[in-house]
Amino acid sequence: MQDAVTHIARAGRRFAADMLDMVLPVTCSVCERPVSGAGGLCEACWAELEMISQPVCDAYGTPFVFEEGDGAVSARAIADPPVWNRARGAVLFNDCSQHLVHALKYRDRHEVVRSMARMMVHAGRDVIPEADVIAPVPLHRWRLWSRRYNQAALLAGEIGAIAGVDTMADLVKRLRNTRSQVGLGEGQRSRNVKGAFSVPETRVRDVLGQRVLLVDDVLTSGATANECAGVLKRAGAVHVDVLVFALVSHAG
Ligand SMILES: [Zn+2]
Repeated sequence: MQDAVTHIARAGRRFAADMLDMVLPVTCSVCERPVSGAGGLCEACWAELEMISQPVCDAYGTPFVFEEGDGAVSARAIADPPVWNRARGAVLFNDCSQHLVHALKYRDRHEVVRSMARMMVHAGRDVIPEADVIAPVPLHRWRLWSRRYNQAALLAGEIGAIAGVDTMADLVKRLRNTRSQVGLGEGQRSRNVKGAFSVPETRVRDVLGQRVLLVDDVLTSGATANECAGVLKRAGAVHVDVLVFALVSHAG
């Protein structure tokens, strides 16, 4: 009798585990091959990620080949200084990081948020402690409604929780539902997002005199982050840093 009870209990647990596997297939978030453990990435995909390590350009966060000293900036930052103060990225934008960002953005693979946020906390270890508030780059409310979540807000919330910094998802508001920046040149990207953001009246007192850390999934031309940093500074922010998961490294 006892044996039967044990057996049934064991079978029940197996069934529950099988059911859980059917509901939550444990596959790599990038290549979808089975992985052991609770989601995340397979070893091959981990190896494909190109982590950014110091030294980096203080303004754009792009890696330097040689040690340039604290606060050194790239030729690009001298020729085209960004509106934000400092940017940091966890990995370079490549096929693998693009897949990972898409998994979070379009395929509801929310289990990647924690690993991505941890990598971002490491990459932003020199800028996060100086932030008073963390804010995600916002989606327009129509896009938020159709996608149901803002991937930048998920990352910002997780980073805030890990680092113990306040996160305000509505510090910056997107006024226009801009077209996707994909396929646009740098000048077109700037025009596409011009005037697309604002700091809502109700949030001005949370920005005035504050140091803001702006969070997004990818930094490409920097047009969106520049526009957000501009509205934050005009609203009285004294300093705006940018922290992203994947950074497109421009030459120079
Ligand atoms: Zn994989």
